[in-house]
Amino acid sequence: MSTEIIKQVFPETLKILSDLIAFKTVSGENNNSLINYCDDKLKALGAESFKTFDKEKKRVNLFATLNAKSGNDQKGIILSGHTDVVPASKSWSTDPFKAKLKDEKVFGRGACDMKGFIACTLAIAPHFTKKDLKRPIHFSFTFDEETACQGAPILIAELKKRNIQNAICVVGEPTNMKIIDAHKGCYEYTTHFEGLAGHGSAPDKGVNAVEYAVRYIDKLMELRNVLKNMTPKDSVFNPPYTTLQIGGISGGIARNVIADKCKVDWELRPVTKSDGEFVNKEMDKLVNENLLPQMKKIYPNSSIKKEIIGEIIGFNREKKSEACELVSAITGDNSREVVSFGTEAGLFQEIGISTVVCGPGSIEQAHKVDEFVTYEQLKKCLIFLDGIKNS
Ligand SMILES: [Zn+2]
Repeated sequence: MSTEIIKQVFPETLKILSDLIAFKTVSGENNNSLINYCDDKLKALGAESFKTFDKEKKRVNLFATLNAKSGNDQKGIILSGHTDVVPASKSWSTDPFKAKLKDEKVFGRGACDMKGFIACTLAIAPHFTKKDLKRPIHFSFTFDEETACQGAPILIAELKKRNIQNAICVVGEPTNMKIIDAHKGCYEYTTHFEGLAGHGSAPDKGVNAVEYAVRYIDKLMELRNVLKNMTPKDSVFNPPYTTLQIGGISGGIARNVIADKCKVDWELRPVTKSDGEFVNKEMDKLVNENLLPQMKKIYPNSSIKKEIIGEIIGFNREKKSEACELVSAITGDNSREVVSFGTEAGLFQEIGISTVVCGPGSIEQAHKVDEFVTYEQLKKCLIFLDGIKNS
């Protein structure tokens, strides 16, 4: 039966994937045409849908439901994918936004991360309507996941408002169709220091932003060790504790000039939400009670501003996960793994939706030059999606 579905659906999957790759939906860019393309396809099958937007209505999320009539008591299945892709460099051997089919692979930006999954869901959708579905099937397509999940929180707030929480969610990020049930969070920050410039021979007359930044970094390094001692006993991650890292520091213009500006790029990969809160609280305390008052004493306009680049919350292993069990029941794969990249999974989980990350393609190919997904992975995904129908 599964080979039958491949025969029926696979050519269409390749066509849809090629269409999706042709939409240049780099994060931050307008993705309306891609979303309309998906919405039209699903509406033609009788889906009910709604959109949510960013402030400028330039970027849009789509949430569409097949078999909405089955009522709220039936647990729906959300098939979730992000529509944005990372930028493509000039070193591609072909046009990254024109799909190339070669050696049983589809090449193109987003082929693997994660338009391949979206193409599979759209190609199988007509088969969801032919048979009697037991439950609603939702399609959740978001914008700007690659830039710290900007789209998903807007969509998820709307799900909460509409009371669409009685559901199971499959996030189709590339996992080689393996069952992923946890990942750490990923919080990224840039802290900006502004002091007062002056002659290097009179350090007391200026406020040296670089020197204050060093004290800030020193505290971060101290907290890094504290976090190791806070390792949860049952941690499933490697390393098992929350990590902290300084990715960059820049400031100052010359040896003999007091630096008036400095910025520090740093990141945190929390294993628990409370670790993230702990670090932020400690750093804010240092700034407000110690560093900033000292800077302002000399120069009242001094400032320290922490810019939040993104805070992707972690995805926690559930003792008994309905979402994982659903995938296992269909595929027969009972393994559970963790990954080191962030996804939208934690956001769905946070509002009580049992969630799993499982999708076609390998993360090895994501974000790379000449990104691809294999036919074999797409077919595996189609067989899995076909199984949902009877679940
Ligand atoms: Zn992705």
